[in-house]
Amino acid sequence: EQQPEAATAGGDVRLTGIGKTYGDFTAVQPLDLTVPQGSFFALLGASGCGKTTTLRMIAGLEEPTSGTVLIGGQDVTDLPPYKRPVNTVFQSYALFPHLDIFENVAFGLRRRGKKDVKKQVEDMLELVELGQYARRKPHQLSGGQQQRVAVARALINHPQVLLLDEPLGALDLKLRRQMQLELKRIQTEVGITFVHVTHDQEEAMTMADTIAVMNAGRVEQLGAPADLYENPGTTFVANFLGQSNLIAAEVTGSADGDLLLSADGVRLAVPKARCATEAKKVYLGVRPEKITLAHASAAAGIAEGRNRLTGTVVDSSFIGVSTQYVVRSAAGQEIAVFEQNMDRDTRIAAGAPVVLHWNPAHSFGLDAAQAID
Ligand code: ATP
Repeated sequence: EQQPEAATAGGDVRLTGIGKTYGDFTAVQPLDLTVPQGSFFALLGASGCGKTTTLRMIAGLEEPTSGTVLIGGQDVTDLPPYKRPVNTVFQSYALFPHLDIFENVAFGLRRRGKKDVKKQVEDMLELVELGQYARRKPHQLSGGQQQRVAVARALINHPQVLLLDEPLGALDLKLRRQMQLELKRIQTEVGITFVHVTHDQEEAMTMADTIAVMNAGRVEQLGAPADLYENPGTTFVANFLGQSNLIAAEVTGSADGDLLLSADGVRLAVPKARCATEAKKVYLGVRPEKITLAHASAAAGIAEGRNRLTGTVVDSSFIGVSTQYVVRSAAGQEIAVFEQNMDRDTRIAAGAPVVLHWNPAHSFGLDAAQAID
């Protein structure tokens, strides 16, 4: 016999045909989206793409123009925010300034006349590692600590789903990185569903199991961070998740699971399994760090079966973790290359003739009918 689901497990979120228009402006096109129970899910996209509106429709803070919202199997579309099994953490922590940290976290429990407040608040402060700050006022804490209080205050209500609206947006980069790991740890410990809105691809990739990349009110692609990065389906996703070289090419045939391409007469290959298109005109995509760069005089040592292009170094900058090159290919396209195995002394100077090469398995193919912005 199957075990019943654990009572502490978070709910899943099911959006069906959910959309939002303001007058004749469409902020979110009707979309279907399932957030699995217990996952850390990120809505990622540039400013204005509709991610906050989507989150607010889950929270009940925004009324959808169409569609339904189910949380843990329950239709909550017509329920006000406080009747939904969710809590939201905002960028502005909105703590009560006159209450100490303990009372800020206790607030929801006291209001609902709960017993055993002390133990629950202490456990929650323990979870967010603020036990020793219980008697401080919010202004006596750092931004990151205040944000952890806001998380504790939301989690103490035992929501099935925690919604996070750019919660780290006000923090400096170093603190933001710490808090990303901290939030991920907390999510793993409590095991409920987190839905996190961010415009920062690194943040989404650090924290989330699944990312929905949004663009112009639509989910452009949904997947695990590594899959989106290695196998983007559109030029937008390719460029939003890190830097990408997109080389225009034509399909000339196929062999051994690869599509064979011609890019201005240069023969290149890309695995069919990594092509998001059947089109004849494609972009071959390759990430800068997948490309190896060699001085043209050393090109004889490059193994067979690799994609290769000749070119000239336009610029090189040593930035510590890598040396970043801009190379102009023989066809005149600028290609970015990040080299990890070169330092100040072995760096190849501007003007030098070079050969770029990479494993075809590290390429992906996209429909060239799309714009690149
Ligand atoms: P940001 O990161 O800047 O918050 P976002 O991706 O979260 O961006 P939304 O806040 O969801 O974007 O907004 C989506 C679009 O809907 C934007 O173009 C915005 O201007 C528009 N919009 C949002 N709220 C309203 C409103 N009340 N009336 C009219 N338009 C709105």
